Amino acid sequence: MFNKVLIANRGEIALRVLRACKELGISTVAVHSTADADAMHVRLADESVCIGPPAARESYLNIPSLLAACEITGADAVHPGYGFLSENARFAEILEAHGIAFIGPSAEHIRMMGDKIIAKQTAASLGIPVVPGSDGAVTNDREAMKLASEMGFPVLVKASAGGGGRGMKVAWSADQLPEALATARSEARAAFDNDEVYIEKYLSTPRHIEFQVLGDGKGNAVHLGERDCSLQRRHQKVWEEAPSPAINQEERERMGEIVASAMRKLQYSGAGTIEFLYENGEFYFIEMNTRLQVEHPVTEMITGIDIVNEQLKVAAGASLSFSQEDITFQGHAIECRINAEDPATFTPSPGQITYYHPPGGLGVRVDSGVYQGYRIPPHYDSLIGKLIVHGRNRVETMMRLRRALDEFVVDGIKSTAPLFRRLVGNADVANGMYDIHWLEKFLAEGGMSTDK
Ligand code: ADP
Repeated sequence: MFNKVLIANRGEIALRVLRACKELGISTVAVHSTADADAMHVRLADESVCIGPPAARESYLNIPSLLAACEITGADAVHPGYGFLSENARFAEILEAHGIAFIGPSAEHIRMMGDKIIAKQTAASLGIPVVPGSDGAVTNDREAMKLASEMGFPVLVKASAGGGGRGMKVAWSADQLPEALATARSEARAAFDNDEVYIEKYLSTPRHIEFQVLGDGKGNAVHLGERDCSLQRRHQKVWEEAPSPAINQEERERMGEIVASAMRKLQYSGAGTIEFLYENGEFYFIEMNTRLQVEHPVTEMITGIDIVNEQLKVAAGASLSFSQEDITFQGHAIECRINAEDPATFTPSPGQITYYHPPGGLGVRVDSGVYQGYRIPPHYDSLIGKLIVHGRNRVETMMRLRRALDEFVVDGIKSTAPLFRRLVGNADVANGMYDIHWLEKFLAEGGMSTDK
């Protein structure tokens, strides 16, 4: 096992990794920008190193600074968390070249899945069903038009290097396609310095269902069931739950086996998520994330498996200590991402938390890096924390969530907690009846207006 792990991240996920390290007896190194000197991950780590000014590109994304921090502290491994450098193959390679372990999959797998076109081709070749679309990149608008007309509109233009919902444009009809292609290309060029795009059938009312996988790089791999992340705003997940209210045990086992077997063939190492859209009983692969995800706790709650602990063990060379038959699913879990944002307009609301009271009690978990008096800096994402609740079934979990939300107090800044209080009382949400567009429609129809 590693002696000392440097956590190349901040906020709640840095704390999450730190906790797993402590439970394994591993020393921890926190890194931070000058804006994060008094952050909780810095306070709780055994050592800390300031790696640069507030701008992420000069601190949390600054590879030379991170390498220097490893050298100064003698860290023998780096956990990248999510975001920042977590899916940067070059970072993984540079660390390996310096004899430092990257806690994640191989650079080859990161690169393969980071290119959405190659990822889709790989998935298809491994027997994973994919969304119908262009075979590869579309470079010629005339060919794109021909293909789209054959598939039928609407179609979605997506950036090969895409992420965070950027570089994605819907063309509802043929006359909208040239502009969708041009806008997606220029957005992709600006965001990813790569304007390669491809075309996919636009699914009109799908759910987002993803499978968590774990592999040890030696041909062993398991799935930990699915998460339903259909409640989204601007393609960003807001509420995640496991199991999905929409699929049955037969579908879970069938798809789970398809993804686990694909990971065995790839000899995938570490944690990963295979994302699907699900419509009319069919699953369609959209992408694979080769890292820990924000919503991993819901899977931990229903399986009892500490995913970060497994990442650490596998990265240190251990084989998976359990097989698929050892994994059992218990009850239901829901996660709400509570952001420092206005709950109606979603305008960021950084600033000082004057009073903070997180909820507690049976089946309630809060993963957060904030504390009373903490000042949320304006430079990074606006996550205050994740409220995760677990119950024996979905009804009990919803009742517990309602109760936990009532206890949650964050004063001094605006938070999206009121949005979740509305959602938990909504009949469609209570019945699990929502697709990926439901939340946008709810908001557009005044779901957060004060007179409702
Ligand atoms: P990103 O990496 O930018 O997050 P994804 O491919 O994961 O992009 O897609 C993000 C979201 O966009 C999905 O969860 C879904 O809401 C929507 N989406 C992606 N592909 C399609 C599609 N073919 N049809 C309809 N919606 C889609």
